[in-house]
Amino acid sequence: MLRSVILAAARSPRVERLVETAPVTRDVVKRFVAGTRTDDALDTTTGLVGQGLAVTLDHLGEDTLTPEQAEGTRDEYVRLLKALSAAGLTPAAEVSLKLSALGQRFDEKLAYNHAKAICASAAEAGTTVTLDMEDHATTDSTLDILSRLRVDYPGTGAVLQAYLRRTEGDCRELAVAGSRVRLCKGAYKEPETVAYQSRLDVDKSYVRCLNILMSGDGYPMLATHDPRLVAIGEYQAKWFERAPDSFEFQMLYGIRPIEQSRLVDAGYTMRVYVPYGTQWYGYLMRRLAERPANLGFFARALASRG
Ligand SMILES: Cc1cc2nc3c(=O)[nH]c(=O)nc-3n(C[C@H](O)[C@H](O)[C@H](O)COP(=O)(O)OP(=O)(O)OC[C@H]3O[C@@H](n4cnc5c(N)ncnc54)[C@H](O)[C@@H]3O)c2cc1C
Repeated sequence: MLRSVILAAARSPRVERLVETAPVTRDVVKRFVAGTRTDDALDTTTGLVGQGLAVTLDHLGEDTLTPEQAEGTRDEYVRLLKALSAAGLTPAAEVSLKLSALGQRFDEKLAYNHAKAICASAAEAGTTVTLDMEDHATTDSTLDILSRLRVDYPGTGAVLQAYLRRTEGDCRELAVAGSRVRLCKGAYKEPETVAYQSRLDVDKSYVRCLNILMSGDGYPMLATHDPRLVAIGEYQAKWFERAPDSFEFQMLYGIRPIEQSRLVDAGYTMRVYVPYGTQWYGYLMRRLAERPANLGFFARALASRG
């Protein structure tokens, strides 16, 4: 219920204005977002890589409405990849990309062309791109663009969402040699017809999907903060005798940093998803919807300013 309210607020321009202008918002945003500028992203990446973490950077922005916006997003990624390479931060740092930010909703071909240009820059910088997965209406289009990008850039990563009923099948298709697949629970509000609704059903689906990926030939990327699923991931890695460099854990910037360090110390690859940019509103609201405890953090910040 609370999740639905917050996700509805995420789509309301009025609430967006209210949240963006609240004085405390800055502190809350800082916890989850690296900053607004490319340099902020570089500074945060430098710090995390120095701690032995790997990074994937996301330039915030989704639901691009014009070709000019899409071009701007492409240019920012190209700029970022050049800067990462110049700073010696690749291959530890790669980038995550939302096709909607490249115009997928109004011109799929345009989004594909821009994504291809970004993959070319990533290859030049000695790193990779992962295509974030958005709402279920875009799944087929995103997987289709992924398979086309992989012809020239086989290291391009996919994301699959365990809450979708179709995902076990997609895992089977993508658990092939060289295929990087991030498995997450899924962050959007989806109808019952396409997605499991209860936490238990989503978690059970996650374990089934993980089993397919970890027993397959690809490179699974376990994106979750859930202690039980991390433990199951560690167990499966031993069971399937996976070499430490044949899979990785992933978590979001600002969430469970102590657990992130523990996984590094245990010898695993632990990649932090680091968002940056001015359009942080939708991202922040999805984090709040996932974990209403984060609302408490927001409320405490408000109180301490009051
Ligand atoms: C690297 C990465 C990339 C992602 N990419 C995508 C994507 O492309 N598309 C998409 O739809 N979604 C994406 N997501 C979001 C994902 O789908 C989930 O919405 C999000 O990760 C929350 O699910 P969870 O697995 O962490 O578990 P949850 O069900 O949110 O939480 C399970 C348990 O984890 C622990 N936990 C969770 N948060 C915290 C916290 N803040 N502090 C302490 N403990 C906590 C608690 O014990 C909690 O009970 C991504 C997530 C990650 C980590």
